[in-house]
Amino acid sequence: MRILVTGGAGFIGSALTRHLVLDLGAEVLVVDKLTYAGDRRSLRDCEGRPGFVFLEADIVDGARMEAAINAFQPDAVMHLAAESHVDRSIAGATPFIHTNIVGTFALLEAARAYWQDLEPEARAAFRFLHVSTDEVYGSLGETGAFTEATPYDPRSPYSASKAASDHLARAWHETYGLPTLVTNCSNNYGPFHFPEKLIPLVALNALEGKQLPVYGDGGNVRDWLHVEDHVRALVAVLRGGRPGATYNIGGRAERTNLQVVQAICDTLDRLRPDPEGPRRRLISFVPDRPGHDRRYAIDPTRIEQDLGWHARETFETGLNRTLRWYLDNDWWWRPLRERRYGGERLGLAGLLRRAAVAG
Ligand code: NAD
Repeated sequence: MRILVTGGAGFIGSALTRHLVLDLGAEVLVVDKLTYAGDRRSLRDCEGRPGFVFLEADIVDGARMEAAINAFQPDAVMHLAAESHVDRSIAGATPFIHTNIVGTFALLEAARAYWQDLEPEARAAFRFLHVSTDEVYGSLGETGAFTEATPYDPRSPYSASKAASDHLARAWHETYGLPTLVTNCSNNYGPFHFPEKLIPLVALNALEGKQLPVYGDGGNVRDWLHVEDHVRALVAVLRGGRPGATYNIGGRAERTNLQVVQAICDTLDRLRPDPEGPRRRLISFVPDRPGHDRRYAIDPTRIEQDLGWHARETFETGLNRTLRWYLDNDWWWRPLRERRYGGERLGLAGLLRRAAVAG
């Protein structure tokens, strides 16, 4: 397998690259712009491995993408590069529009130019896997789950930009026949997760005895999936998915945000007790995120039945492994906390503007 992975220095992209290179022996070209969210140290175990190549480049640069694809001659493109943090998209949507929409367009065009000149066998085998989120489906009530037939209803600049890119990937299949696949996944967690996201943010603040901010009443529900289950699902879709189809990926692990924060406190109390007392004392409630979707839940029946994929981790086993990883790997997260991101809250600008308008 020769696979071009965009966004391979990010959280999920690096987990995918490690799985492809270290477990499956694939040749991988990572294309990544190394934004604040990209970190080559996450690929430390792949560096120097035969067939692993890293290219620092912007996916918006279509000519560069075309040259990279032509030089590498991949069997597949797995597209994960994106601006991915909802709070940042509220503070400023420009890079989200640029990378998620224009970048996906540039990559699809580069892949199409390469694919249409392939020999018939390689042309039939080629795949473009576009990795997306369940947030494109909007918010659920108390019951039900997103299926592949759920209409799109994105609510944030982030999810709107991802929705646009999903439509582009599907249109390139319908219009040009490019063998695209789309996956929509629920919230991931696991090692090498940038410490602005809920689970690492809360875990590291808890270890440092800082306040643990919970948005609103903490009742928002997310469906959690360990990142290693996600990357196994992506490989299953790449190998067995039907071009043009969409696959929802989820771990059947719904939790409220408050339950997640409490589980982190309790797990850390077991793994590394705090002399000051149980960490639940650090929980504090802060004003809600503007437009905060209430509940997401994924129905993964299609990928389970058609491709035989099932999540291996429960939320409890996955969280335990993840928190152990953070305890053992401060070489990775400490410089990020100290130099680039200190654990402060992002995306309040819109909220403050709203409050001002409301008087
Ligand atoms: P991430 O923010 O950790 O990583 C994104 C990577 O893309 C970074 O390495 C960054 O440097 C790179 N990148 C950004 N802009 C780029 C550009 N213009 N050109 C090249 N590289 C660029 O994101 P993640 O959490 O690993 O998410 C990966 C993908 O999975 C995204 O498409 C995201 O929408 C999707 N997704 C994420 C989750 C989740 O819970 N994290 C859930 C479902 C889907």
